[in-house]
Amino acid sequence: TVRVRIAPSPTGNLHIGTARTAVFNWLFARHQGGKFILRIEDTDIERSRPEYTENILEGLRWLGLTWDEGPFFQSQRLDIYKQAVKNLLDKQLAYRCYTTSEELEALREGQKARNEAPRYDNRHRNLTPSQQAAFEAEGRSFVIRFKIEDDREIVWNDLVRGNMSWQGSDLGGDMVIARAAEDGIGQPLYNFAVVVDDMDMQISHVIRGEDHIANTAKQILLYEAFGAKVPLFAHTPLILNVDGRKLSKRDGVTSIFDFKQMGFTPEGLVNYMTLLGWSAPDSTQEIFTLETAAKEFGFERVNKAGAKFDWDKLDWLNSQYIHGMQVDKLIDLLIPFWEAAGYKFDGGRDRSWLEQLVTLISQSLTRLVDAVAQSQLFFSNTVEFSEEGSTQLKQEGSTAVLEAIVTALENQPQLSEASAQDIIKQVVKEQKVKKGLVMRSLRAALTGDIHGPDLIQSWLLLNQIGLDLPRLSRAIT
Ligand code: GLU
Repeated sequence: TVRVRIAPSPTGNLHIGTARTAVFNWLFARHQGGKFILRIEDTDIERSRPEYTENILEGLRWLGLTWDEGPFFQSQRLDIYKQAVKNLLDKQLAYRCYTTSEELEALREGQKARNEAPRYDNRHRNLTPSQQAAFEAEGRSFVIRFKIEDDREIVWNDLVRGNMSWQGSDLGGDMVIARAAEDGIGQPLYNFAVVVDDMDMQISHVIRGEDHIANTAKQILLYEAFGAKVPLFAHTPLILNVDGRKLSKRDGVTSIFDFKQMGFTPEGLVNYMTLLGWSAPDSTQEIFTLETAAKEFGFERVNKAGAKFDWDKLDWLNSQYIHGMQVDKLIDLLIPFWEAAGYKFDGGRDRSWLEQLVTLISQSLTRLVDAVAQSQLFFSNTVEFSEEGSTQLKQEGSTAVLEAIVTALENQPQLSEASAQDIIKQVVKEQKVKKGLVMRSLRAALTGDIHGPDLIQSWLLLNQIGLDLPRLSRAIT
């Protein structure tokens, strides 16, 4: 059975790259009827923070990437790693290395001077017990290294990249798998803990970013050392910015909640991530939920080349979800954005008023946050006039038109759609002017501009909160 995992390190907030890897894992698991497992790789105690773990869990939940097992925490599994280290020590596939950081530094300097790639020279691979005892007596600390033979060839058939081949000599010498501790074996290192966990959790497919390819070569050697079945690997393309470089913090956003704050919906963002390096068999189909994408997902349609981040496409997908959303749900999503902008829900701005407002503007929203600018005139007591808006009010006949509307309104303060239309018709007739002039003057007086959402609906909204009459009166004087 298929078992996959996402294994974020809580050294930062949930990152778009990790989230995209999670999406591919999730889709593959669902497609295969397998399990999606969440493991928090918090062995780096210095850099791991509980609030990052919280952010990662919340982010995955927000995106709808539910997990079947976990979260497992590496920090709670230290005994398992120690046992596994002991296993390799017993088999003499690993050893204690007492090389000091100064010695390693000198080694690296020499290699640099000779233009050689940095690598450990395996100098403590075959220490005798008395040599070990001497180092211990010196008070030296140690690390556990796993033996990597230079002439080993490591091959695997990557589900995305095809046949891969590495040479043991490319892996930097015997690798550190754990640090020392008072009582012997201490903190395991990433490559080691990952293999122990993936074995223990019976992971069948390791799906992760291509920046882990060199790790995969090392990890395969560890599986073999344990006599375990090697999982299948799929290395997914990196996410690139517009310049073709790896997307990073410098590109403005990288964490999932940055996208939320920018007004993206989880549905839109997940849909976009699905297409970041994968395309459906019918490549014209772009709208996918996690469920519909899972039906089609497979590695044969994952690209090798990096996936360029395309803001326009993300915006377009996001707008599709906003436009198709139930008004009630949309209101709930917009309220935090309005609140953050300082808008108040008083003076008649109740739920049914909000429903009308949202119905009015929803089809012109690309990001949720656009609702702030697009509804400002309904929340603010003052109107900001554009140049065109003020010019419109100076047009011949404009003042007379507005005076006529004010008079009509004074007799009938509460408008319906029909009565609003009637007032306009009546003013056209009385003033002997074109309907266009009435509409443009009315819009300029109410909204400060000559463009905007449906005029009658906008007027009705302002009328319900008693803002239309004052605005019209002010436009006259
Ligand atoms: N903790 C690793 C990371 O966040 C996991 C890599 C893996 O999937 O093995 O990059």
